[in-house]
Amino acid sequence: MKAAIYHGKEDIRVENIADPVLTDGEILLEIEACSVCGTDLRTYRNGDKKIAPPRVLGHEFCGRVIESRNPDANVQKGDRVVMYIVLSCGECKYCRAGRENLCISRTTMSYHYDGAFAPYVKVPARAVQRNSLFKVTTDQSSQQMSLAEPLGCVTNAHTHLGIGLQDRVAVIGAGPIGAMHAVLARLQGAQSVHLIDINQKRLDMMTRFDIDGTILSEKDGAHLEKSLELTNGEGFDVVIVAVSSAFAQADALEIAGKGARVEFFGGLPKSNPTAVLNTNHLHYKELMLSGSYSEKISDFRTAYQLIQSGRFPADKFITHELPLERIHDSFLMMESGEALKVCINPQL
Ligand SMILES: [Zn+2]
Ligand SMILES: [Zn+2]
Repeated sequence: MKAAIYHGKEDIRVENIADPVLTDGEILLEIEACSVCGTDLRTYRNGDKKIAPPRVLGHEFCGRVIESRNPDANVQKGDRVVMYIVLSCGECKYCRAGRENLCISRTTMSYHYDGAFAPYVKVPARAVQRNSLFKVTTDQSSQQMSLAEPLGCVTNAHTHLGIGLQDRVAVIGAGPIGAMHAVLARLQGAQSVHLIDINQKRLDMMTRFDIDGTILSEKDGAHLEKSLELTNGEGFDVVIVAVSSAFAQADALEIAGKGARVEFFGGLPKSNPTAVLNTNHLHYKELMLSGSYSEKISDFRTAYQLIQSGRFPADKFITHELPLERIHDSFLMMESGEALKVCINPQL
């Protein structure tokens, strides 16, 4: 089969490899859709030491079960499924607390097992056994269902943000993840939702979502003033940083109001993970600062159910569908802001 294989930094090739062969306990999926993630782009541009090449990338997928070597599995041949991609030990302190994302010996699809930028993907026995596959029971498209994985990560952050009716929310970073944060904030009843970005093209794309407005981030700091204007001079109640930028993290503390919750969603580049922050904002404004990493299986289930319900506008996220051969084009389109979410169809 043809697959997009990571060989190292700036080296992803579409090549022919052997079709996967199952052993006991495993399940084979025929991939119908695999969305390209910001992480894939970062892996391509910077490399990733956690991935031992050669490795098939692609972790946001939806596919159909075409073979099963586990008769007790919760899904069967013919079922369309999505997958919780974290394989956890189930025994460590964090697993026992329901925080599989923090498992001390976790492994992940597309890092330790081949991913879904390929027509077929093998689901490891442990994942099958732990019911990591979720059957799609509505007629949402496979493209839309592929968003359950990133939406689960976003949901993880919202489980501790607790957004409600009184909250004026700002999201910094108008990419697909930022847009998901904005949509979730709205669905939870936020009083207002604004998106902030340095790229006007990205902001223009956000008008398709049910948000209250966008703010262009400018070098002169005008966006900080604008944020205060929009909130009676008080600052936002919740600020989410959905972009890998130390400047955005610093801005978040500036535009946060008294008693606000601030979320640093995602990290900074590993080569330069330090930010200069005015921590007096934490002190004088009594801010709550949180982070989040990956997702718990409960977050994935929530995201999967939300997309299935039709209440999440998944269709508005997928702007392009491309064949495997054009995976590099998807990276360029994401970088320029032309695409919001690109979905690879390995069957094309
Ligand atoms: Zn992802
Ligand atoms: Zn564990």
